[in-house]
Amino acid sequence: MNPEGRARVEAWLEYFNDLGISDFCLDRAASAVEAASAPAEPIAATPEPLPRPVRMAPAVANPDQTHIASVLPVIKSASLFAANERVEGDTLDRIREDIGENCRRCKLCEQRNKIVFGAGHPKAELVFVGEGPGHDEDMQGLPFVGRAGKLLTQMIEAMGLRRDDVYIANVVKCRPPQNRAPEPDEIETCSPFLYRQLAVIRPKAVVCLGAIAFQSLTGTKPSMSRIRGQWLEFRGIPLLATYHPAYLLRNPNAKSDVWEDLKKVMAHLGLKLPTKR
Ligand code: URA
Repeated sequence: MNPEGRARVEAWLEYFNDLGISDFCLDRAASAVEAASAPAEPIAATPEPLPRPVRMAPAVANPDQTHIASVLPVIKSASLFAANERVEGDTLDRIREDIGENCRRCKLCEQRNKIVFGAGHPKAELVFVGEGPGHDEDMQGLPFVGRAGKLLTQMIEAMGLRRDDVYIANVVKCRPPQNRAPEPDEIETCSPFLYRQLAVIRPKAVVCLGAIAFQSLTGTKPSMSRIRGQWLEFRGIPLLATYHPAYLLRNPNAKSDVWEDLKKVMAHLGLKLPTKR
């Protein structure tokens, strides 16, 4: 095996070791797998009432999602996913075009190198939403390609998927200076593009990576510890928040919590859990 391949396998094994599941073999081809449990567990937990209940634009039902969406607690949020953001006949290309090559809608444009639109499968069943590009993303114009991104890739692969199978986007498309959190005006300006992306892709699930993504999508501000790993329905799309990979780099012990969350997503998507042996 070449050194690059070896390093990749070692990183992968280390990741599973951190999850406490080092003793299994993930072999998709051989299908030596067991079915993930039904999504009863994730939807059983009813979150406490969210702090800012307001009216939400009616959800557009997707028949594929109704088995779970119909029983999920609904986030009532008129904030940033309002119906007036929908564009008839919208496409990802059109959204990218609307952003423009040199967007100057907010102050993040001042230090940005590249706009990071998002990447992945245009009809992905699963969308990961992060907060905003960091240095590597800003240089390459692609989401989650730095250290946190490598961890996200491992998380995706642990689910038995490839990065190309999912879609990855951020709340803001330009890097906040010094990797600070995006500010409310920046989120408000940029997130309608994310909502349009979600409306076009219409995934079966959205995973919010960290509090900023969750807060931006829902217009609510509960703590991560309160809402992590709970299914909510957001405008017809089952949505679940988990820790941001950057948080996991600082707190590796939380990787097992994230794995529990990802297993809920796998169950919802009908993916198989790796067999332990
Ligand atoms: N963190 C994010 O939230 N998004 C990225 O694209 C990279 C790091």
